[in-house]
Amino acid sequence: MDVKQKIETLRNELREHNYSYYVLDAPVISDYEFDMKIKELQGLEAAHPEFHDPNSPTLRVGGAVTKNFETVVHEHRMYSLDNSYSKDDLEDWEKRIQRILGDVPVEFTCELKYDGASISLTYENGALVKAVTRGDGFQGDDVTTNVKTIRSIPLKLKGGYPPKFDIRGEIILTLKGFAKMNQERIANGEEPYMNPRNTASGSLKLQDSALVAARPLDCLLYSIAGASGLKTQFEVLEKAREWGFKVPSIAKLCKSVDEVLQFVDYWDVHRHELPYETDGVVIKVNNLQQQEELGYTAKAPRWAMAYKFKSEQVSTVLHEITYQVGRTGAITPVANLEPVLLAGTTVKRASLHNADQITKLDIREGDTVFVEKGGEIIPKIIAVDFTKRNPDSEPTKYIEYCPECGTELIRKEGEAQHFCLNDMGCPPQITGRIQHFISRKAMDIEGLGGETVELLFKEGLIENYADLYELTVEQIIPLERMAEKSAENLVNGVEASKKIPFERVLFALGIRYVGETVAKKLAKAYKNIDALMAASEEELVAVDEIGGRIAESVVQFFSEEKNREIVERLKSYGLQFSLSEAQLQNQSDALKGQTFVVSGVFESIGRNELKKLIEDNGGKVASSVSSKTSFLVAGDNMGPSKRTKAESLGVPIISEREFLTMVS
Ligand code: AMP
Ligand code: ZN
Repeated sequence: MDVKQKIETLRNELREHNYSYYVLDAPVISDYEFDMKIKELQGLEAAHPEFHDPNSPTLRVGGAVTKNFETVVHEHRMYSLDNSYSKDDLEDWEKRIQRILGDVPVEFTCELKYDGASISLTYENGALVKAVTRGDGFQGDDVTTNVKTIRSIPLKLKGGYPPKFDIRGEIILTLKGFAKMNQERIANGEEPYMNPRNTASGSLKLQDSALVAARPLDCLLYSIAGASGLKTQFEVLEKAREWGFKVPSIAKLCKSVDEVLQFVDYWDVHRHELPYETDGVVIKVNNLQQQEELGYTAKAPRWAMAYKFKSEQVSTVLHEITYQVGRTGAITPVANLEPVLLAGTTVKRASLHNADQITKLDIREGDTVFVEKGGEIIPKIIAVDFTKRNPDSEPTKYIEYCPECGTELIRKEGEAQHFCLNDMGCPPQITGRIQHFISRKAMDIEGLGGETVELLFKEGLIENYADLYELTVEQIIPLERMAEKSAENLVNGVEASKKIPFERVLFALGIRYVGETVAKKLAKAYKNIDALMAASEEELVAVDEIGGRIAESVVQFFSEEKNREIVERLKSYGLQFSLSEAQLQNQSDALKGQTFVVSGVFESIGRNELKKLIEDNGGKVASSVSSKTSFLVAGDNMGPSKRTKAESLGVPIISEREFLTMVS
């Protein structure tokens, strides 16, 4: 097989696997096999730029950066929908329709109303060419680069499609995906996102598409514009599914408004079992010919109607406000409620976010409050029922001292949360740090769980994560619920963690804002812990994608004697504090001492791959042009300001090809 054929075969295979995994939810091969095939294809594509394909499955990983999202006029306007809230509303709508169409039978399709960000995708000859946000309905933003990273959106279609059409859908985050993102943020010491809808729509406007690729976004499709030959909305959904799009099978064809109402009632109850959020049902006249006759008002089609579910609210008594202390010392107030049934689950607690939120709503212990299940997994309090307030009640006084250790709390300017700064003496912070250290993505210590950490701490056997490495089987056996076997497993698990690679050890240390990705970047740039510990804030900021907040936090962490001591101890036990030989060997010194700025979009190589090449060959990547820049590597659509700056400073501007010859 020649190379071109090999590349094509791999691309087709990967497309098919991608479809099975992300659209059908039924993977055929393992993640590992999939990754191997992607790597093979990446290698071939890098070696053969002449076979570049803007819709290759390798582009799913992102890497290209969009500085300004271009405005694009929609060829077919994107309308809004009229809303209805009752049976009467729907019956009135049906009457209006019948008045225009005359006395003919009308069928309806019912679909769920997906709650995300609407998107219009243009396909030409079966390939995705453009993705545009709704904007004001007449024109939106071109977010093609970012949208290409969403795995369930086909870049190439399966047979039988029209030569050119627009398809509309909603970009969403599943509840699971959203919860996972938030867990990671909390683990990194960042504030969680508020709800899936805003997070999904915010994701589309991120500049770095690699960040978009890392989010578990999904896209559900519901209409087609500009295709001829289709007769009904139901057929539209079926065809879209055939061409490879993700179209929920929940849609139903109804012969009467009564049937529509059955669908609505059913989903009003069962929507809480769906993997994503829905805020209602969209009802459409099924026959496209009839749709055309009905036409549009100034803002919405006359042939469609959204039926909004009432967001479920209940009232209950707030017994007590308690305060949780996180690993980073952040304080979260929690409302402890009289248990109440809401949206299918019993609710006992609700998050109160922070002091401002409590003041704004004037929430007090003993109040009767209204609770709603919004986008968040944890329900929230939306208001107080003031008619039921006890006249003797007093405004809530936010705590001033840590409930766990008694230290006075601090609220830094610009931060919503209060913090306990007693990081070495505050129990939940101590155990929280150890629990982070042993977690799966960090040191992944088998045989040791969060509760055991608390037990070991309570028994005075550990005070920090370095102490784990001195635990003996004899010390552990006497503890509650511990037997010889489990004690041995624990000690063996700790021993095995000494092989965990440097970047994960760095993540495990629990430096605020140093998440998995940042830890990888830092490990790569500094190669060992001593170099990193010696780095100044200025030097750190010069590392690509390391911002001021991270740099400050890293320097602060290593400036503390107690942290340096712990690192020294961990080193003495044999943990990995530098990149392995294998990791280093992949690298050369060809670009040693040179600093590169990379700008624009490249033909044969992704931006991130290009940066990796620079770093692997001993060079540094910086984010802005300065007198210290050795070369500016210029791709298509490079920012004009970078060019001007480079020219004025006399920094040589080189092309992608010139760069590649430097490293080959
Ligand atoms: P609104 O923004 O409330 O006017 O509602 C209109 C929006 O609902 C459309 O722009 C779509 O983005 C969204 N939507 C979600 N699900 C559907 C669906 N099944 N059919 C049509 N529109 C939908
Ligand atoms: Zn404390």
